[in-house]
Amino acid sequence: MASRPKTSEALKVVARCRPMSRKEEAAGYERILEMDVKLGQVTLRNPKAAPGELAKTFTFDAVYDASSKQADLYDETVRPLIDSVLQGFNGTIFAYGQTGTGKTYTMQGAWTDSEKRGIVPNSFEHVFTHISRSQNQQYLVRASYLEIYQEEIRDLLAKDQNKKLELKENPETGVYIKDLSSFVTKNVKEIEHVMNLGNQTRSVASTNMNEYSSRSHAIFVITVECSETGLDGEDHIRVGKLNLVDLAGSERQSKMGGPGERPKEASKINLSLSALGNVISALVDGKSTHIPYRDSKLTRLLQDSLGGNAKTIMVATLGPASHSYEESLSTLRFANRAK
Ligand code: ADP
Ligand code: MG
Repeated sequence: MASRPKTSEALKVVARCRPMSRKEEAAGYERILEMDVKLGQVTLRNPKAAPGELAKTFTFDAVYDASSKQADLYDETVRPLIDSVLQGFNGTIFAYGQTGTGKTYTMQGAWTDSEKRGIVPNSFEHVFTHISRSQNQQYLVRASYLEIYQEEIRDLLAKDQNKKLELKENPETGVYIKDLSSFVTKNVKEIEHVMNLGNQTRSVASTNMNEYSSRSHAIFVITVECSETGLDGEDHIRVGKLNLVDLAGSERQSKMGGPGERPKEASKINLSLSALGNVISALVDGKSTHIPYRDSKLTRLLQDSLGGNAKTIMVATLGPASHSYEESLSTLRFANRAK
């Protein structure tokens, strides 16, 4: 792997392509996307290419093709980030891509099928296995689950789902969400229960409004506090925070402006996504003195977990078929900016 141009230890960008769906196969769509797992490359061919137009190739830290297993992605790419959270660093994992390309499959997967468990259940398992094996350390794990929809923050674990939460800033502890609920979880079962509660809230919202889940960002936050008595006899505490983010669909929203939707809403939908792209570019660039965290709720909220000592993974999810050429190209370009 040393031959591959690495971004940095702090930010890893990987691409994942889902299999052709049955619908796509039945409709006879061509496959226009190929992955070279060894080289970490994705090649995308324009189905309406002009004569002489070449396919475009993008290189990432790793690529996962349709035959890749959830465990491959977890073990190679995610595990080191979770280990660093357990050591007291902050970390963020994003799934970015068009609706229907596998963001939720990658983050959550199918919980009941051990082969199909995604990043979220695998990291729960990892965190609590680590804790159960540790000696001389005391851990406290807390979980929160929130959503950003049209730049409004909602607590997915609160009783009152109509309440909009506010982002606040504390000079010492940084940005936080006022009144966000947080649950102490002692084992995998408890933290899964918290996640399921929030997922139920999300699915109710999606039933009430089509496209709700594809337009909102879901953020599951785990805080791991570890205290240990040092050789000096004093207690030392370190805190690591992990953000697991299933982003809104990256598709251009103009296509799907629903009936009865006010134009003002459409412009807000992807504000957090474009701000995220700008923040990541500025961080990668390394020359920018100004990182535009303040431009959206998402980037403000994740400010202490993007850049600095924090580690970030972006999984760009893609479909293989010709009808998603434009969106695939835009996802690959976005992900490429992040390197
Ligand atoms: P998104 O969250 O990006 O809208 P989903 O995760 O809901 O997309 O995936 C859309 C469909 O494709 C689902 O039926 C899902 O099970 C399937 N799918 C996505 N990625 C994979 C994959 N890597 N392997 C198998 N099936 C997948
Ligand atoms: Mg989804």
